[in-house]
Amino acid sequence: MPELPEVETVKRVLEKKYINRIIIKIDILYPKMIKTNLDEFVNTLTGAKIISIGRKGKYLFINFSNQYSIISHLRMEGKYIQKNIDEENTPYSRVVFYLDNGIKICYDDSRCFGIMYLEKTSEIFLNKEIKKLGPEPFDITDPNYLYNHFHCSKNEIKACLLNQSIMCGLGNIYCDEVLFKAKINPYKKGKDITLKECNDILKYSIETLNQAIRLGGSTVSSYHPEKGVDGRFQNELLVYGKVNHHCPKCNSILRKDRLKGRGTTYCPKCQNVAISVGLTGKIATGKSLVLKILMNYGAKVFSCDDEVNKLYQEIDFQKKIINLFGEAVLNDNLKISKAYIRNIVDNNIVLKKKLESLIHPIIKERILNFLQKNKNEKLLVVEVPLLFEARLSSIFDYIIGVTCSLSGQISHLKQRKCSNIEQSLQINQTSKFDQYANKCDFLINNDGTYKELEEQVNNIYQKIINS
Ligand SMILES: [Zn+2]
Repeated sequence: MPELPEVETVKRVLEKKYINRIIIKIDILYPKMIKTNLDEFVNTLTGAKIISIGRKGKYLFINFSNQYSIISHLRMEGKYIQKNIDEENTPYSRVVFYLDNGIKICYDDSRCFGIMYLEKTSEIFLNKEIKKLGPEPFDITDPNYLYNHFHCSKNEIKACLLNQSIMCGLGNIYCDEVLFKAKINPYKKGKDITLKECNDILKYSIETLNQAIRLGGSTVSSYHPEKGVDGRFQNELLVYGKVNHHCPKCNSILRKDRLKGRGTTYCPKCQNVAISVGLTGKIATGKSLVLKILMNYGAKVFSCDDEVNKLYQEIDFQKKIINLFGEAVLNDNLKISKAYIRNIVDNNIVLKKKLESLIHPIIKERILNFLQKNKNEKLLVVEVPLLFEARLSSIFDYIIGVTCSLSGQISHLKQRKCSNIEQSLQINQTSKFDQYANKCDFLINNDGTYKELEEQVNNIYQKIINS
């Protein structure tokens, strides 16, 4: 899709070739493209002379001597192609303008998303589409303008930049480039953006757009304003379209995620996007304690055990459990009895698998949601007892395993006043932690004192944060 620099390139080509040309005839081959009265469009412009070409954001203004203008938006695929009058139209010609010098301009649009309006030149800026546009970066002199607008937004900064009513001119490509240059996390909320960051956004927006305009934009294969005018800016792109490439600044691997539906490429390190950590280990090894310590260091945390407990409180889930185990699963207070479920699944592998296939996808989805929603944080830690069994290892940047001796596990269970230690320890037998321990990036041993535990956690925390 053409963005501001591509449209500016089109404007310059039209300016160079068609100023002072008179339209002698217009064929409208796809009437829906014209958003104002068709007859008026044709009658007003036939015989009119093109005197200047203007632009705001991605809208082109073709201004005529009779004080009327065409407002044209190319959308996905629109382009102006020149032909001699006796040549055939292009295959997707939608509107054809015949000029007084033996040539015609075919407005070509394979997808028909483009639009044109006829407006009085003096009323262009009253047009409902144009009215919605905020100033272009070139026209903003004070970064406080951006600060004041971003400051009242709960949206991510990238969404704020895509919102053309605040500032117009940055589409998906240039947003990613500008945020990378300004070292801003695209998921950071508008309200948390500082004045210095607004200043950087403005500076890099102007710099990037100017550079792109100088190089004729970033050509998409279907888009050619003129033979020989290829968008060479695509060779200068730093992050857009470069997922899994190395960051040009720090050599980290660039990532791509979706943000409000838009593909967003960034460097997790340069742009401080949250680091995600999976925390795992057998029962009663001290995972929750490690989670608490990391939380005190400022990590945002998610505990799967807590989430499963929450899940059991949800009516929809309770219905599914009753479907699976029958009414007998309810205790005297008509609440789901987890002890009953545990007893059954311990002896019934089929039901155990069914229960897992009910719980695991829901929890996995909630973990992914948690990670996605909090990319503006520094560190995210998810406690997942069955991290390897549930095949979740690939969603985390780092995995920490917590280990301790059997006697340590028993003493932790005693401290928790566990009523059936033997049964709880049976989970050890099904845990595949030992088998996968070598896949952990860090291992913590929790057989020592609290102070020793905290020291290990602190060490790992420093390594992760400074990685
Ligand atoms: Zn980087």
